[in-house]
Amino acid sequence: MAANENLLEIKNLKKYFPVKAGVFKKTVGHVKAVDDISFAVKNGETLGLVGESGCGKSTTGRTILRLLEATAGEVIFDGKDVLAMDKKELRGIRKEMQIIFQDPYASLNPRMTVADIIGEPLDIHKLVSNKKERNEKVKDILEKVGLGEEYMNRYPHEFSGGQRQRIGVARALAVDPKLIIADEPVSALDVSIQAQVINLLQDLQNEFGLTFLFIAHDLSVVKHISDRVAVMYLGKIVEITDKEKLYEDPLHPYTQSLLSAIPVADPTAKKDRIILEGDVPSPVDPPSGCRFHPRCPKAFDKCSIEEPVFKDYGDGHFAACHLLEE
Ligand code: SF4
Repeated sequence: MAANENLLEIKNLKKYFPVKAGVFKKTVGHVKAVDDISFAVKNGETLGLVGESGCGKSTTGRTILRLLEATAGEVIFDGKDVLAMDKKELRGIRKEMQIIFQDPYASLNPRMTVADIIGEPLDIHKLVSNKKERNEKVKDILEKVGLGEEYMNRYPHEFSGGQRQRIGVARALAVDPKLIIADEPVSALDVSIQAQVINLLQDLQNEFGLTFLFIAHDLSVVKHISDRVAVMYLGKIVEITDKEKLYEDPLHPYTQSLLSAIPVADPTAKKDRIILEGDVPSPVDPPSGCRFHPRCPKAFDKCSIEEPVFKDYGDGHFAACHLLEE
């Protein structure tokens, strides 16, 4: 597959969770965690997916991998719809799509040695034929993530947070995937360690031609690693474009407010912080029209009535805002 071709295409994806109440646990509503989103990830690129907690970004990642079953939509990976696959096909495709979790401690089995944690997916996908071959492969992968073979027989609790995340990366990498969904992979780490893990992911991407969907709640985290960035708010994607355009010329008021919250290194540089009022509304009963209207500093009459169309404002710079339509 050539670079620039789409490895992953998400079409009108929805994930609703039922809200149950009463003795008979009747469904009384739905949490619309992901509500009709469409985007693509090109082969070999990193797409950052950003938004406040509860906006649906992690649910999007898990639904793509079918760790959660979608309510509607299509997930086209390498030309095939993952959501239409039976169990056997899904097992085959799982090798190609791996995930790195936010909390490296919770995601590693505390009773398994590092050799078993990294070796397990090799066994599941029958990629090694004996223990010697498995150990050689584990040793190789450990080296790639900056850990030596002396760590093979140790347990997760013997490692620092940054080292544990390296083990999580090694486990994802073991089966030679095409796509890695990194779900807030550095959020639980000290700031000093975050850059090391991000640099490692970038080096591995270059070496193995990986494609990343990199989920984060903060635009500053994805700035370095992303080629393009998508911004999510309350189950919807509100803006998506190249990294340069997003950081220099954001079109959507929500993106503008997220960017204004990033501290600048130069203390003499002037930056007006846009303070958003209120919390993110409930996805059970999202606001009418533009979902951002109760908090948007630029909202006007039409915003609470009509939902803005998500459209291309030039060279693949998509956004959904009535102000842009004027
Ligand atoms: Fe703000 Fe209206 Fe644009 Fe929504 S459509 S972002 S409320 S100006």
